[in-house]
Amino acid sequence: MTTSLMWFRRDLRLGDHPALQAAAAEGQVVPLFVLDPRLAGSGRRWERLLASLAALREETDGALVIRQGDPAEVVAEVAAEAGASQVHVSTETNPYGRRRDAAVERRLAAAGIGLVGTGSPYAVTPGRVRNASGDPYRVFTPFLRAWREHGWRAPAGDPQVEWMTKLESDPLPAHSDQEAGERAALHRWEDFRAEDLAGYATARDRPDLDRTSRLSVALKFGEIHPRTLLADLDAHGTGASGEDVERFVAELAWREFYADVLWHDPGSAWRDLRDGLDGMRYDEDPELLEAWKSGTTGYPFVDAGMRQLLGEGWMHNRVRMVVASFLVKDLHLWWPAGARHFMDHLLDGDMASNSHGWQWAAGTGTDAAPYFRIFNPVTQGLRFDPQGDYVRRWVPELRHLPGAAAHEPWRHREGLAQGYPERVVDHAEERREALDRLAELKESR
Ligand code: FAD
Repeated sequence: MTTSLMWFRRDLRLGDHPALQAAAAEGQVVPLFVLDPRLAGSGRRWERLLASLAALREETDGALVIRQGDPAEVVAEVAAEAGASQVHVSTETNPYGRRRDAAVERRLAAAGIGLVGTGSPYAVTPGRVRNASGDPYRVFTPFLRAWREHGWRAPAGDPQVEWMTKLESDPLPAHSDQEAGERAALHRWEDFRAEDLAGYATARDRPDLDRTSRLSVALKFGEIHPRTLLADLDAHGTGASGEDVERFVAELAWREFYADVLWHDPGSAWRDLRDGLDGMRYDEDPELLEAWKSGTTGYPFVDAGMRQLLGEGWMHNRVRMVVASFLVKDLHLWWPAGARHFMDHLLDGDMASNSHGWQWAAGTGTDAAPYFRIFNPVTQGLRFDPQGDYVRRWVPELRHLPGAAAHEPWRHREGLAQGYPERVVDHAEERREALDRLAELKESR
């Protein structure tokens, strides 16, 4: 009987999994996950990965083989032990994954074993959506149109897999118990669809309401595939309006767009995508960076977001935009300093969405959003957290301030009485400074 290897990476599920289907069609399957120390990065995300692997091991009736080490060596070793003629994967499109897979492919080829990629973590594999001249899109709206027109294959359903169970596995390192895995992701999706999709188009911007899907972590690990979500939206009536559904689909498309941009320009993970702001003057200020990271800038909406990141390993999208703008335009620090901190703490930390989310805020990326659009951290807070509930949830030193007062503690007599810090910079002044730097750059050209 033929045996093949299914090497899991960002696809930790069994349902709607074209690569697993391809493996299962060949005969017995050895499911493998390689704990690659290069991906350890954030301790918190690593813990979350381990929880997801525990769930996958259960789903595979204990067959999942876990090995630690360099994938180029480990995959070839396990393939040889299993007597596999093919190794199946979902195609990886991020820069590190592509380099890693090229190395694995070379090693396997030397042993006469093929590496077969089927599907990817996206509804449309990055690189496929192109304009009439065959070029990639650099602007979201035309990408969205073309992405829809391109379409995606129907969901793959649940495969019948015969697992091979005789290979040794390293123990799964100890980790905390937390919601993870395919079943949890499907439940979360079903709950969101039933309860929070209606009204999503407007409520999604309100961190106090917490009405987004929070599926980003499950999508990051591939516990659920975006195509499953898209197909469900087509198949089931939801109580939501067309606008709510459209908006949710567009958010999924942002994830696909950024993956596409990074696929075409892998270097843009850590440097400006566009050269329009080359030569821009940024500061290096460890103290201000630290105040930002620890949520002690004196701007409540910013600090609440930064503390949510440290507390939960997640931050609401509106607040991500505001804290990113604050780092670049108010503190004048270059965006990779902030992007690195996000990657260190986000459970959903994803190179494409993070780097390009940052570049969107910094004005160096895909968006036509010009550098001179600068978020006001106070008015953003008043608008999207009108009663101050989000701020009080994350900033205990402001809990004595009722309603919107929590957004401007300096205007209230007892505002800073519970130890909340003074503002580290003056927004109006720094806004002017940011615009001066832009003018200076333009003059120098
Ligand atoms: P929902 O509103 O329920 O959206 C559904 C899904 O659509 C999300 O799970 C996500 O996969 C996708 N999505 C939504 N908004 C965006 C967006 N702006 N860009 C790309 N995809 C989006 N998202 C990450 O998954 N990983 C990151 O590392 C990341 N870093 C970011 C950094 C910055 C500076 C900014 C501004 C945004 C970043 N985002 C990132 C995008 C977005 O903030 C999160 O995807 C979203 O907050 C996740 O919450 P949710 O699942 O409840 O979103």
